[in-house]
Parts: sequence; C-alpha cells; structure tokens
Amino acid sequence: MHKIKSADLPISVFENVQIQFDEAAKRLNIETGILELIKSTKRAVEINLPVEMDRGGLKMFTGYRVQHSIIRGPSKGGIRYHPDVNLDEIKALAAWMTWKCAVVNIPFGGAKGGVACDPSKMSQGELERLTRRYTADLIELFGPEVDVPAPDVNTNEQIMAWIMDTYSMHARHTVRSVVTGKPVEMGGSLGRREATGKGVLITVKEAAKHLHMHLSGSTVVIQGFGNVGSMTAKFFNDEGSKIIAVSDVYGGIYNSKGLDVPKLLEYVAKKKSVVGFPKTHPINNQKLLELECDILIPAALENQITKANAHRIKTKILAEGANGPTTPEADKILDKKKVFVIPDILCNAGGVTVSYFEWVQDRMGYYWTEDEVNERLENIMTKAFQDVLEMSLKHKVNMRVAAFMVAIKRVVDVIKLRGIYA
Ligand code: GLU
Repeated sequence: MHKIKSADLPISVFENVQIQFDEAAKRLNIETGILELIKSTKRAVEINLPVEMDRGGLKMFTGYRVQHSIIRGPSKGGIRYHPDVNLDEIKALAAWMTWKCAVVNIPFGGAKGGVACDPSKMSQGELERLTRRYTADLIELFGPEVDVPAPDVNTNEQIMAWIMDTYSMHARHTVRSVVTGKPVEMGGSLGRREATGKGVLITVKEAAKHLHMHLSGSTVVIQGFGNVGSMTAKFFNDEGSKIIAVSDVYGGIYNSKGLDVPKLLEYVAKKKSVVGFPKTHPINNQKLLELECDILIPAALENQITKANAHRIKTKILAEGANGPTTPEADKILDKKKVFVIPDILCNAGGVTVSYFEWVQDRMGYYWTEDEVNERLENIMTKAFQDVLEMSLKHKVNMRVAAFMVAIKRVVDVIKLRGIYA
C-alpha cells in the first residue's frame, strides 16, 4: 500500500493556530495550567441538517459551531459555507477569533461556525432553509450575551437576516443583537460591509509608516475577490496604490501597469468573476502569490503560503486579509526574507470591530453615522497596531508572535481577576 509521509498530510489548521500560540506563550511568564485552559476549545458541536431541495427530496448537510472562549465576553465569530468546511478548520478559526478580539481589545471571546456545502450550486430557497435549520438546531448556543454569529466566507447580509429572524421567531420577540453583519435596514451597522477592507488599509498604512514606505504608487497584489478582497482593492486604489493582480476561485488577472479598479468592480458585479476582464493577462493563484510587489494581500482561505512557496514570495508587506493564510513553517521563511507580516488577527480585525459596534448599537437602539463608525474603527485599529508593534520591538519578535503575546496577556489578565470557579 502507498505509505503517506507525514510531510504529505494535509496541514491541520488547528495545529497551526496552536503552534502560533505556543510560540508566543513561551515568551510570557504564565503558569502552564492557565495556558492549557485558555488554549483549549470551550465547546464544539457538530450537527447534521436535513434540507428540502428544490428538485424534491432531502439532502443532509454537516454543520458546526465551535465556541473557543467566553472568558472576555460572549463568543463572537462568523459562519462560513464552503465545501471544505470541517471541524479542524472551524476549531482553528474559532481560536483565531478569541485572539483577534483580544488584540483589538473588544469584549468578546471567540467562536466560528460553518456548513459543508457549495452555495454557488444552491438556490436562494435552499440556502434559506439550510440557514434556518442550522440556526434552529443550535438555538441554545446563540444569544446576544452568549454567542453572536456574523458573515464569513460565502455568507452575507441576507443569511444574517434569516438567522436573526429564525432566532427572533423562537424568542417571540425581535432580537437584533443576536447576529452582526445584518442589512442596515434591520439593525446592521453602517460601514460593516467595508470594515474588514478598511481595517486592512489602516494596518498597512501604519506598517508603511514604520517601514518608511508610501502607499501612493505602491504595487499591490490581492488573492481573493469576495467581500474582503474587493473592498481592499477599492480602498488601496483610492490611496493611489497600483493593484497589479487579483484573483478569485475561477482564476486571476494581471497587468503590470495596474488594473482599472472601479471598472473591475462593475465587471465583477455583472460577471461574478474577475476572469476575462479586458486588458489583463490570465494568471493562476500560485503565480499570483509569487509576483514581485510592495504589498501582498491574501484574502481567501487558509494555508496559501506554505513552506512550498514561501521562499518565492517577493513582497515587502504581507497583509493577511484572510484567516490563517500563512503556515508556521512559511512564517520562518518569511522572517528570514525580512517580509513584514501583518498577522490575520490584527490585519483583518476591522470586520469584527465593526461587528462589535453593530452589537453595541443594537443593544442601545441608537445608531451611529458612517463617519462615527469609521472614526472609532480607525482609533481601535491604530491602537491595536501600535500595541502589537511595541510588543514586537520590545521582545524582538515578529508581528504574529507579538500579536499573540498581546492577546494572551489580555485573556490571562481577565482569567486572573475572575478566578477559577470550583
Ligand atoms: N468572519 C469575520 C472574521 O473572521 C468577522 C467575524 C465577526 O464579525 O464576528 O473576523
């Protein structure tokens, strides 16, 4: 029988996040028992959901909700719909949410959910029935003070609206703050849709200042053109950066002179893909990551930059719009190459930060202007970047290790104050 070498095994994302944690934890003087406690998953639930399909008959879908931590507040994190969703991935993403919320210092723990499905092959009706069944089956887990979902890969405002409605129908009253990333008409926050992209821009601006680089005229490559990738392209284009390549699941496009981003956004709205955009060359996702540029922004899925391609990465700043795009082995290679990595738990935290604002506004029943949202977002992201940079310079560690150190310290501070209930 063909023997699988350990190097050929698929990379466990949960293992990756634990390696990142350990790398930071060993530099902090914290009792092992406490570290074990905050590192472990609080609760993981797997469910099987029957959904009535349009052509008749039922189809079963496997879904998950993982609550990694509730130490700093209700657990918070998105729900993704993707064929590759599995428990290992959702556990990792839930843990990253804990550390992300702590890095930006918002009062949440971490969670993540997902359903293994291909939404591009499902009708609106099928998606609605799947979403409502998922919410109803997990209803005890959710609640404004308990666990608050949000959008993630392939989920959107409409799906959040169905979650809010399903939860509210069971509660017998409208509960807006049970989910964030909702349509603005029903309690969503202005600026939420743009928030992750804005956050990426804010952190890259801070990094550029630190590295004495200028955004105007810089070359940018973006992998992924969903909510995060497309918004990021727009904001960097507005700053005068040159977006030279972007990609989505169908393929990539490249033009060394820069893409016309406003036209590209119109094109994608119609064609649902970047592929075939005029005056560009096709490029595959692997080659795209290896393009020479000033700023590389992976904004798709995990494990994109690994030990197999890290030595071919030719960027000055790697800004992680996605969660977990870089493996720990790749991190070491990037360190040697002196690539400045803005880690996911800092770089893409703008989304959950405005989710926090949405939750606050829903609970107050009082809504802020977009300017108020953006100003508060800028303050939080800038402060988080500075906290992490300071830690990085003080301990002579890279930004990922520093971000984890900041986050772990914040969670441990709360554990110490709360004590362990026996
Ligand atoms: N899914 C986003 C993330 O990975 C947002 C989570 C949220 O807003 O709760 O950060």
